[in-house]
Amino acid sequence: MTRIFSGIKPTGHMTLGNYLGAVRQWAEVDQHRGEALFSVVDLHSLTVEHDPARVLRLSRQLATLLLAVGLDPAVCTVFVQSHVGEHTRLSYLLECTASDGEMRRMIQYREKSAQAQAAGDGVRLSLLTYPVLMAADILAYGADEVPVGEDQTQHVELTRDLAVRFNQRYGETFVVPRATKPVVAARVMDLQEPTSKMGKTTAGTGGVVFVLDEPEVVRKKVMRAVTDSGSGGGEYDREKRPGVANLLDLLAACTGGNPEALAGVYESYGALKKDTAEAVVEVLRPVRERHAELSADAGHVEEVLKEGAEKARAMARPTVDAAYRAIGLLPAG
Ligand code: ATP
Ligand code: MG
Repeated sequence: MTRIFSGIKPTGHMTLGNYLGAVRQWAEVDQHRGEALFSVVDLHSLTVEHDPARVLRLSRQLATLLLAVGLDPAVCTVFVQSHVGEHTRLSYLLECTASDGEMRRMIQYREKSAQAQAAGDGVRLSLLTYPVLMAADILAYGADEVPVGEDQTQHVELTRDLAVRFNQRYGETFVVPRATKPVVAARVMDLQEPTSKMGKTTAGTGGVVFVLDEPEVVRKKVMRAVTDSGSGGGEYDREKRPGVANLLDLLAACTGGNPEALAGVYESYGALKKDTAEAVVEVLRPVRERHAELSADAGHVEEVLKEGAEKARAMARPTVDAAYRAIGLLPAG
C-alpha cells in the first residue's frame, strides 16, 4: 500500500496557500489513497525566532484544523512531530549523510537566513539542518509520496538524494520518496505582492488569507488584491500578469474550474475579485464551522494526537532501528 507523509509547521495561522496547496488534498484525496500520516511538525518552528506560548497555541490550533478539514483519525494518522522521538533519532544519522554545501544551497535556507539577519537575529544552526530533519520525517515512515506545495520540491529532492546515498553506502534501508502537488494552486501568491508566495510568516498580513479569517475579512483582502496594469479580463499569464493569474488560480481551485478558461470569462477585474472572494469564503466556511465545534472538545483532539503518536512511533521504529544497524552502531540489545 502507498505510504504518504506530510506536515505543517506551527509558525503561524494556517493560510489559504497551505490549505489549497497541500492540506485540502490530504483530506480529500491522500488519506483515502494509502496509509497516510499527517503531522504538526513543531520542531521545525523552533528554527526561527518564536514565542513558546504561541508555538503551543498554534500547535493545538493546527492539530484541530487538520481534523476540521476532514482528516479522519480512523483512516489516517494525525500526530505531533515532537511526540515521536524517531524523527530526531534518525535526523542525526542523516546529518552524517548530508554535506554542509548541499544544505547551504537550499533556497529556503537562503531566504530565511537573510530574513533572520535583516531582523537582527542570529541564524540558528537548526535553520541550516532543517531539511535534514524534514528528510527524517519522511524517510522514517518509508513514505512513497509527499504531498506538498511547490515551495517544498527542493527539500523533497534533497530527501531523495539522502535516501539514495544512504542506501548506496550502507545497504537498502530507505524508500526513495517523491513529491506530489495539486494541479492548480500549488503556489498561491500573496495578494498584495503577487510575485511572492503567500506565507504564514509574511510580515504584514493584508495579502495573506487565513483559513480562520471571518468572511468579511476574506472579502476585504481579496477585493484589495493587487491586479496588474492593463484593463479588463484577458489572459492567464503568471509572468506578465501575476496578480490576475493568482486570482484566477484561486477561483479555479475553489470552484473546480480551469484558470485559463476562466480568464476569458471576465471583462473586469472587479467582477473577477468579487467571484473569487465569494468562492474562497464558501470553501473556507465548513472548515471554520467544524473548527469551532472541535475547539469546544479539546479532550477529543488530545486523544487523537496521543493515539496518532503511538501509531506513528510503531511505524517509524523498525526503519530507524534498521538505519542504526546499517550505519554500524551497536544494537542496544
Ligand atoms: P513558513 O513561512 O513558516 O514556512 P508556510 O506557510 O510556508 O510557513 P509550511 O508549514 O512551511 O507553511 O508548509 C505547509 C505546506 O503548505 C507545505 O506543503 C507547503 O508546500 C504548503 N504551502 C505553503 N505555502 C504555500 C503557498 N503559498 N501555496 C501553496 N502551497 C503552500
Ligand atoms: Mg514553508
